[in-house]
Amino acid sequence: MRTNVSLTRFLYVDHGGVVRGKAAATSRLAERVESGIGHTRAMMAMSMMDELAPVDGMGPVGEVRIKPDTSTWVTLPYAPRAAAMLADQVNPDGSPWDGCARTFLKQAVAELAAEGFELQASFEPEFTLGRHEGASFTPIDESLCYSATGFHLAHDYTIDLVGALIRQGLEVEHYYPELGHGQQEVPIRHATALRAADNHVLLRETVRAVAIGQGLWASFAPKPVPGQAGNGAHLHASLWASGANVFAYPAGAYGLSDLGYRFLAGVLAHLPGLVALTCGTVNSYRRLTPSSWSGAFACYGPDNREAALRICSPIGPGGSVNLELKPVDSTGNPYLALGAFIHAGLDGIRRSLPAGEPLLADPATLSAAERARLSVARLPASLPAALDALEADSCLMSALGPLRSAAYLAVKRSEAEHFRNNDTEYECRHHWLKF
Ligand code: GLU
Ligand code: MG
Repeated sequence: MRTNVSLTRFLYVDHGGVVRGKAAATSRLAERVESGIGHTRAMMAMSMMDELAPVDGMGPVGEVRIKPDTSTWVTLPYAPRAAAMLADQVNPDGSPWDGCARTFLKQAVAELAAEGFELQASFEPEFTLGRHEGASFTPIDESLCYSATGFHLAHDYTIDLVGALIRQGLEVEHYYPELGHGQQEVPIRHATALRAADNHVLLRETVRAVAIGQGLWASFAPKPVPGQAGNGAHLHASLWASGANVFAYPAGAYGLSDLGYRFLAGVLAHLPGLVALTCGTVNSYRRLTPSSWSGAFACYGPDNREAALRICSPIGPGGSVNLELKPVDSTGNPYLALGAFIHAGLDGIRRSLPAGEPLLADPATLSAAERARLSVARLPASLPAALDALEADSCLMSALGPLRSAAYLAVKRSEAEHFRNNDTEYECRHHWLKF
């Protein structure tokens, strides 16, 4: 490990979706890598408002250790003399803790591997670049979607951001100024599921830190500014076996294999509960609305950008087929979101669920009767409704396990209750401040 580093951050993501951690001083680093750094189990009962939800097993008594995965070590280009590692939370004896989100994803990956598959995934992050003055957040520009003016106005920031991402080993695919005022998008190359979730955490950290370094503020809040485009983090995924993409089948409808359709059907079947994890905050549901490119209806279609699941057409010769889940944003815990996505798809594979017909229209333009005939349902319109759907989903609940599921529901219901008693401005402000 580098000698010019004074502090190494051990980072995890809590049930509120907040990236938190503790940092080890270099003189103690080797020891701390072995033992982890202790903290109270109650941290996984903490909401995005730093309020503790009542959760059995996550009270003031008992300790877990933030134990870093040394393969994730990176020096932080935006924080001189600091480094970071993504961490699990383990019991004091070093065994996995059943409240740890990263462990949940690792276990889902192992279940998938037992069936002979590996998931490649990538989040497609959008965020709003602006200025934070007192209680207000103002986007840096009013540029148009993909406009050259947008490139000019955000250039100094973007170049620093992309450089910082590359120096941490993240492979930047694209950059563009998106539809909303000050909105930016920087997709990262796909990777194995755990790495994709780790990458998303590193990206979230980098986007905000580089903005702070330039006197700006960047927010992943799903709807930081009402009336403007929302910030999504669409999830792109494909299954692989023996080095080949097993979603790809050129002779299949839209190039997707039977296995791909079964996986897709599993995700669709569990989507009402799954969105409680992929769209994890009260503010998420201000974004997840019809005709806003966020996939507010449970349906799928080839290159249909209003369907919750899009079968992406291959780009270029030999381009690979993947599924894109749109009801996802960066306020969810990426480890829980991706782990639950894997469980949903696996359930579809195991039970050979039928995908039904693809939808070739914006579902919002169909009549309610037509949607009912096609079994196209509106996804939950609020966080409490999504949490009820999650609680009713025995497959996702048993995958999460009793401690994790109870903690997640309690934390998220406490957030819903907190914001229920406040207005839109308060909600948006706390989401652009925290995310
Ligand atoms: N901003 C849209 C969302 O909230 C996505 C736009 C797009 O990239 O298609 O999901
Ligand atoms: Mg976009």
